[in-house]
Amino acid sequence: MKIIGHATVLTFGENHQVVEDGAVAFDEKKIHAVGKTDELRKRFPMVKVKNARGKLITPGLINGHMHLYSTFARGISLKDPPAENFTQILETLWWKLDRALKPEDVEYSALIPLLGAIRGGVTSLIDHHSSPHALAGSLETLKKVFRKCGLRGCLCYEVSDRDGTSRKEAGIEENANFIRGLKLENEKDIAALFGLHASFTLEDTTLGRVAELVKGLKCGIHIHAAEDRADLDDARTRGYRSVIDRLHRFGFTGPDSIFAHCVHVDEIDLQTLALTRTNVVHNPRSNMNNAVGCANLEAMIHEKIPVALGTDGFSASPLEDLTVANILHKHQAKDPRKIYSEIWKVFSRNNPSLAHKLFKIPLGTLEEGAGSDLVIWNYDPPTPLTSTNTLGHLLFGLSTSTTQEVICQGKTVYEDGKFSFISEEEESEICAKSRELAKSLWERL
Ligand SMILES: [Zn+2]
Repeated sequence: MKIIGHATVLTFGENHQVVEDGAVAFDEKKIHAVGKTDELRKRFPMVKVKNARGKLITPGLINGHMHLYSTFARGISLKDPPAENFTQILETLWWKLDRALKPEDVEYSALIPLLGAIRGGVTSLIDHHSSPHALAGSLETLKKVFRKCGLRGCLCYEVSDRDGTSRKEAGIEENANFIRGLKLENEKDIAALFGLHASFTLEDTTLGRVAELVKGLKCGIHIHAAEDRADLDDARTRGYRSVIDRLHRFGFTGPDSIFAHCVHVDEIDLQTLALTRTNVVHNPRSNMNNAVGCANLEAMIHEKIPVALGTDGFSASPLEDLTVANILHKHQAKDPRKIYSEIWKVFSRNNPSLAHKLFKIPLGTLEEGAGSDLVIWNYDPPTPLTSTNTLGHLLFGLSTSTTQEVICQGKTVYEDGKFSFISEEEESEICAKSRELAKSLWERL
């Protein structure tokens, strides 16, 4: 058992509290207590209290939708003329990049953002992976990288018809094998969903097959849904009312599944998502960057849809998307009163409850019985910090602060600028190797 005390503790979760001179008692299995430092000293007199005075403690952050494989796009220059729309962005960048990935690229392109995740206080990431020419075993590779870094990951491989029958079949097999393998492990650090790319790159026959498989595997799916207008147009061409209608008819809606984006949805779609308790993940920076539109977050919260926040590969930390969500929806509605309470709910409650569902243990909240993932931030609030104004400190203070220590599953993975599992020399070797692999990948495009 360890106790970290004398800090300002933010609990997040359903009953968010700010505890001044607070402490957290935990071991590798779970958090045993959260409260005033003096109380915890009395309750656990044999345990030495580590002093974190002047620091802030939060739960480990959760990224609801990530693409680790996108790492090597950083700084890339493309030979094609600039893409004019979302489909062209996929064709000229992402589908070229994922086809060029080799097994070693899969490993390093995951390792780099996971190191960044740790530095940014992120301890759980829900990833969506694609590497059609380094497909078999790719999820096992990602699992090893997550375990090397000591983080929690929910993994999937994005099945699509866009690369032909054999790669679609291999994608289906990759998901099914990985999910079956995890069921035998019974660990709480790695979870899995069945990955699908998006409605517009999937044939009805493929959706039908996957629907049967996920029923047997008793798992949900992770898919991009109604991200761009092109996805909606495609669903209508196929004879469906909408993308959500199509996915619902195949039985993919439900509390175990994640639908990323949901930008092009109408009132009936929102009701379908609400009634089926389907998880939506909002990725504001990605939506703005791809110019696909702005999801109606206010309506989703109003309909009580469980909507969480992700980054869609933009960064490992969702704090930056939280900052952008705050200003995007004001800008979109031309109303500065918008979205404050909604994004606070999304970040402090919905991301934790999504992680809880996937990893089968309370996460993203500091409370007795939750997983022991916590972050000590170098942030001494310069203005009063209370349970009702915490979001202001997240947006304008914590989002630009550094982490002092990051603990996942009770183990310190980062402290004083150093990772516990690699030396500084190894870290610099990893970056050098990554640059070499990225250069070679750019040449292959
Ligand atoms: Zn995505």
